Amino acid sequence: MSKKGKRPLHWRIMAGMVLGLIGGYVLLQIPGGKAFTYDWISPVGIIFVRLLKMIAIPLILASLVKGVSDLHDISAFKRIGVRTILIYIGTTALAVSIGLASVNLLRPGEGIPQETVRKLENQYAGNKKLRTKISKAHEHKHRPKLQFLIDMVPDNIVKAMSNNTLMLQVIFFAIFLGIGLILIPEHQARPLKDLFDSLNEVVLKMVDLIMLTAPYAVFALIAGVVVNTSGDVEIMWSLLRYAFTVIIGLALMLAIYMILIAVFAKKNPFWFFKQIAPAQLLAFSSSSSAATLPVTMERVEEHVGVDKQVAGFVLPVGATVNMDGTSLYQAVAAVFILQVLWPQGLGFSNQMTVILTALLASIGAAAVPGAGMIMLVIVLEALGFPASKMPLALALIFAIDRPLDMLRTVINVTGDATVATIVAKSVGKLHEPYPKEWDDYLKP
Ligand code: ASP
Repeated sequence: MSKKGKRPLHWRIMAGMVLGLIGGYVLLQIPGGKAFTYDWISPVGIIFVRLLKMIAIPLILASLVKGVSDLHDISAFKRIGVRTILIYIGTTALAVSIGLASVNLLRPGEGIPQETVRKLENQYAGNKKLRTKISKAHEHKHRPKLQFLIDMVPDNIVKAMSNNTLMLQVIFFAIFLGIGLILIPEHQARPLKDLFDSLNEVVLKMVDLIMLTAPYAVFALIAGVVVNTSGDVEIMWSLLRYAFTVIIGLALMLAIYMILIAVFAKKNPFWFFKQIAPAQLLAFSSSSSAATLPVTMERVEEHVGVDKQVAGFVLPVGATVNMDGTSLYQAVAAVFILQVLWPQGLGFSNQMTVILTALLASIGAAAVPGAGMIMLVIVLEALGFPASKMPLALALIFAIDRPLDMLRTVINVTGDATVATIVAKSVGKLHEPYPKEWDDYLKP
């Protein structure tokens, strides 16, 4: 129990999840239960996610500007930046390879009857959501190869801050501003540094306040997901082997993070998971690493002890570009689809193409629910998969995508937190944790 006599936050969130699962199931059985959830329960979850998204940009801006400007020397920042990017690429390549190995070994695509394929096609291939995903994927094609660099540089910082999908542009601006602050005289830099320092502190306090409602919000989010789960049980069963393959891969990734934490950060991995548990649970409930970001930052800075110079850079960048769970899922899903619909098999060079495109596609995927599926289209096209069959391909995995999205988002968030901790340790910026309660400074 915590000092306020309450159970630790992660237990309360977990209780909310279990009750949400039960509540959602009960509501599904009651006539009008679905409409009731839509009208009265889901909004609680939506408001909670909005609150978190609302503070994401001020938090990134404040912690990054403060972090960079405190460095005194630009080469220290270069060191953190280069290490972060290299480890991100390394863990993502590892995740894709694990995905590929599991799908090649377990071969979940074999033994799916043609009748099931036809059923899935009838049920989902015309689905509007699915068609939108395909056309969104096509927007990513026919762009210059260096488009990702262009996309990082804002042409208007106010516009960038008004759109959560442009987080990388805000990061770019914040780093630039931080570097500028290092290069001007201290007495002129001080007021702005103090302002961002204060903003950082107050936004972290807002995270504490928002998290007070997390157990209720998680109840609403999970109940909403359960009530909206459609599809017949038989189809779900036939996709179980595929889901199992993704889950095995994700579990292996979790084990790898544990090893990395033990070896490189010299911390007990179970202690580490306990510190970041609220962020993981929230990632699961919201399926969005962007919405979870403020909580990830609060947990990693205050409860793990990562200096904000490191957390402020590594975590926002990770939320947008480092998605180990998504890239692993893309590798499994792409090969699964080919096993079912394209029996000629995948040669070595095709497997390499999967590794490369899944890596790039996960970098390009937005940190929101279902984004991984959009980028899957790009992986399939790179393998020469016919565009005419794309709706059928996505129809195969659509029924079970949401639960897998919830799980892969947990891995995405855990991966970011792991890398932040390792990088902090490697540059001597992993300190004693200093957990704060929302009412620490409230006079009794
Ligand atoms: N939902 C994932 C995330 O936000 C992205 C995805 O795989 O769809 O991290």
